[in-house]
Amino acid sequence: MDKTTRKRIDIKSLTLPQLEEEMVSRGEKAFRARQMYEWMHKKLARSFEEMTNLSKALREDCGTWYTYTALQAVKVQESKLDGTRKFLFQLSDSNLVESVWMKYRHGNSVCISSQVGCRMGCSFCASSLGGLERNLTPAEMLDQVYAITLLTGERVSNVVVMGTGEPLDNYDNLLTFIRMLTDENGLHISQRNVTVSTCGLVPQMKKLAREDLQITLALSLHATTDEKRRELMPIANRYTIEELMDACGYYFEQTGRRITLEYSLVAGVNDSERDAERLCRLARPLRCHINLIPANPVKERDFVQPEGSRIKAFQNVLEKNRINGSIRREMGRDIDGACGQLRRRHM
Ligand code: SAH
Repeated sequence: MDKTTRKRIDIKSLTLPQLEEEMVSRGEKAFRARQMYEWMHKKLARSFEEMTNLSKALREDCGTWYTYTALQAVKVQESKLDGTRKFLFQLSDSNLVESVWMKYRHGNSVCISSQVGCRMGCSFCASSLGGLERNLTPAEMLDQVYAITLLTGERVSNVVVMGTGEPLDNYDNLLTFIRMLTDENGLHISQRNVTVSTCGLVPQMKKLAREDLQITLALSLHATTDEKRRELMPIANRYTIEELMDACGYYFEQTGRRITLEYSLVAGVNDSERDAERLCRLARPLRCHINLIPANPVKERDFVQPEGSRIKAFQNVLEKNRINGSIRREMGRDIDGACGQLRRRHM
């Protein structure tokens, strides 16, 4: 394609080898690509203007050749309870995404969104109320981490893809994002500190197992029988729990990484001791870690969180069975904690 007519490329979504190829095709030296990559992904520049070791002419040309994404924070809420911050960001097409920053003893963690909206339709989740708007690009996922690093002035050590969207429904962009996030020429976050949470897209889980990554895969299970799971999650009509556990086994086998099972406790729906027993039976063969999440109330949805004593009883069953489990500390309870709620309120 003629250089003057080709579509403007989203430069921040290019990997270093792609950027090198791109620069060379523009008649630039390959080392320019390295310099630019470092500006974008290490120094977290918000525009070409900031790239002061490039000539002014090149910076201006870049502005005409490429698009350069940068998020605008339109709202920041900080929890008075634990310092958790929730960010509502505007994308260049004015869509909104939310991300969360959590401070733990072992480092700062960022929870990012992978799509604008979601099409999975889980019955307790606020993210899918408006359906899927579009996928996020690799740059837009990276930008959430970069913007939060700049706004807090602190290094991010853990990234969890557990915000709005189904990450494995945006597979290729997710993979590019993970490779760039963990690239030594960028923020160089350890793969072991990256977690991807899925509602259970079996073929993509298996594909992910073969990518030679050391990330953690979390499966949103939420039920211990197919019948119950179908009530909560439409995706359960497509894949059975047996197929899911097979895919988890395959992931463990290929990567050596233990799976986390996420289990949102909904009062009277999936919180009985029999559920807990079945959950232990599912978790045991793969030595999964279990994350219990007391369901966060969502205004538009009709369900409640189990009482403390019931959550405790559920946990006791796990303990008795010596299954490794923890209750997700409820961070930022006072600031629209549950997925997708801040964005919905703003819309
Ligand atoms: N699509 C991915 C990421 C979604 S959000 C997935 O399904 O895993 C991360 C976790 O929060 C998922 O386990 C999701 O099921 C859960 N979740 C969503 N809404 C919730 C709510 N209101 N209360 C408790 N957990 C919720």
